[in-house]
Amino acid sequence: EKITDKLAALPKDGTYFSLEFFPPKTQMGFANLQDRLHRMANALHPLFVNVTWGAGGSTASKSLELAELTQRQLGLTTCLHLTCTNSSRELIDKTLEQAKALGIRNILALRGDPPRSEEYRDDDQKEDDDSNKDFTWAVDLVRYIRKQYGDYFCIGVAGYPEGHSDESHPEHQDPKNDLPYLVEKTKAGADFIMTQLFFDTKAWDDYEDMLRKHESGVFKNIPIIPGLMPVQSYQILRRITKLSHAKIPTDTMARLDAVKGDDEAVKQVGVDIICEIVEHLKTLGGPTPRGFHFYTLNLERSVTQIVERCDLIAEVAEIIKELNGDTGAVVNG
Ligand code: FAD
Repeated sequence: EKITDKLAALPKDGTYFSLEFFPPKTQMGFANLQDRLHRMANALHPLFVNVTWGAGGSTASKSLELAELTQRQLGLTTCLHLTCTNSSRELIDKTLEQAKALGIRNILALRGDPPRSEEYRDDDQKEDDDSNKDFTWAVDLVRYIRKQYGDYFCIGVAGYPEGHSDESHPEHQDPKNDLPYLVEKTKAGADFIMTQLFFDTKAWDDYEDMLRKHESGVFKNIPIIPGLMPVQSYQILRRITKLSHAKIPTDTMARLDAVKGDDEAVKQVGVDIICEIVEHLKTLGGPTPRGFHFYTLNLERSVTQIVERCDLIAEVAEIIKELNGDTGAVVNG
């Protein structure tokens, strides 16, 4: 189903969560993830799952293979990510057709890596390579999907609570810079906003406030789903916060620094930290049920502990049972 339809079935003050997976590179990796997904689907009942897309279509067939597993075989509502820059219209068309054939009704419409700059392409390439022609920004993809498919797909777009830096000017990182483009994406037909990961709840509060109160009114009732990443290791955290430009509050960093030599302790402190963020977000209220999106990195343990400890499972499980009736595929046993 569409994510928006499932959300409409939740109580307004309810909670839900989603889990993100990326397609493994090898068959062995795929088989491992398959087992893990079976367990997680049965135990956790996410409202939906996300399958990532390699920029430029680099994981196209593997992403679709994983999406087939989650949507078809496991009966999990799947949101397929799709990037449009450096991709031909043929690939986008083919992917949307394949997604539809699999029964997928949700697409996260993204730009992906920045467009290959004209400056760096030689003249031959400029002649032959027209892959930048159709799509430059994520909004181009949102418009294209709406034009080709009407309301068939529920469309999500990316938001950045701490701003989005386009390599060129990291010092100008500020969520306000992105705002006109987020308005544009939403006006073009986005149904929900899913965000970059963050650890700074103050940054989140300001962001959500800024959107809800925006003069355009386009964010008044739209679901804004916070992205949260359980800390899997000290090194991964360092790398990811650098890539995503997420700030780690000083006291949060101090707690992780205190145990940085002990991988198990880092994970446990990481679970505590995310649980505290979830509990904070739960207190905020708002016009839609409160969602939480977990970047799982294809791992099971931390996210399981978080959704159990924060009591996120029960409500969604009930709704999913009702929605699925007796046809609920593997998930309902
Ligand atoms: P856009 O909305 O197009 O914005 C890109 C940048 O350009 C922003 O800085 C914006 O301010 C600026 N901009 C937008 N429109 C204009 C305009 N008209 N004129 C001038 N400037 C403009 N990447 C992947 O490759 N695969 C994934 O599966 C994936 N999943 C993601 C999931 C989430 C939840 C998030 C938050 C990001 C994900 N990304 C993924 C990363 C994403 O592709 C990058 O962050 C990318 O650099 C920007 O994508 P966007 O959709 O936000 O682009």
